[in-house]
Parts: sequence; structure tokens; C-alpha cells
Amino acid sequence: MKIAVFPGSFDPITKGHVDLVNRAIPLFDKIIVAVGVNSQKKYLFSLEQRLEMLENVFANDDTVHVGQFEGLTVNYCKEQGARYLLRGLRNASDFDYEKTISQLNHIIGDELETVFLISKPEYSHISSTIVREIIKGKGKVESFIPIEILNQVTK
Ligand code: ADP
Repeated sequence: MKIAVFPGSFDPITKGHVDLVNRAIPLFDKIIVAVGVNSQKKYLFSLEQRLEMLENVFANDDTVHVGQFEGLTVNYCKEQGARYLLRGLRNASDFDYEKTISQLNHIIGDELETVFLISKPEYSHISSTIVREIIKGKGKVESFIPIEILNQVTK
């Protein structure tokens, strides 16, 4: 069984993330969208809120599961029996960052393979960072986040 972990902060999940998962569904038997918990990092949404958002967005996708982990992504992959990581590339700075992480994970994760999908042009300007700024400034976020989480984000 081909299992992929899509790790991220998802603070909050955006249309860019959703598109990536949807495009990866035909490639894997199971995709685990996993919230990585880093106790040093400050988040806008709590872990519970982010997990609830992911559950809502992927409620109708049988092969997409939601999870959470602390510590190394490679350890979580091993626990879950996943041989693949899924990541998105929006631009050259994503590439520079992801390249190093992927090479490290390949070594420490016993040949764990990272599969990269290039973001669609209509989503490549979307980042959770920008979305958080718009939410804080009470701007319109509908264009950037999946409809299923609109209520949760704007309440
Ligand atoms: P992290 O904290 O690990 O960067 P994110 O939730 O910001 O977590 O991103 C998780 C993954 O989703 C990364 O691989 C990132 O490149 C990808 N991603 C983020 N935004 C988009 C987008 N708009 N289109 C495609 N991929 C994206």
C-alpha cells in the first residue's frame, strides 16, 4: 500500500494545500494530512481548530486521513508505514528550503521519498502567512481558503 504523509502547519489550510492533496489522490492509496506540532512556534489557530478544519475539508475523501505528530516527520512516517512525503513547490525559495529537508529526510528516514507537486499558477501566491495577516486585518479571505472552513476562520 502506497501511503504518503503531507506534513505542515496548516495555520490555516488554504486552497493551495487542498489542490495539492486532490492532485495527489490518484498517486497514493492513502494520504495522511498531518499537523506537525512545534512547541516553540506561535500559531493563530489552536491544534484542535486546525485538526477540525482538516477534518471538515476532507470529510468526503475516503483515502485522505488527518493526523498530528510531534518531533521528527520521519519518525511519524515510520509509525504510519508511509514511504512517501508530499510537499508543494510554489517558487524558488520553496525549492531551496525543501531540497535540503528532502535530502536529509531521505538519509535519516531510510530512503523516504519526497514527492513534490508544483503549485498551480492560480494558487502559487497563496500562503498561510498571508492568509493569517488578512484574517487579523479582517479582510476578505474567501478567495484563499476552502469554503468548508470559512465559518471557523471568520467567527
Ligand atoms: P510548513 O510550516 O511546513 O511550511 P505549511 O502548512 O505552510 O507548512 O505548508 C505545507 C506544505 O504545503 C509545503 O510543502 C508548502 O510548500 C505547501 N504549500 C503551501 N501553500 C501552497 C500553495 N499555495 N500551493 C501549493 N503548495 C503549497
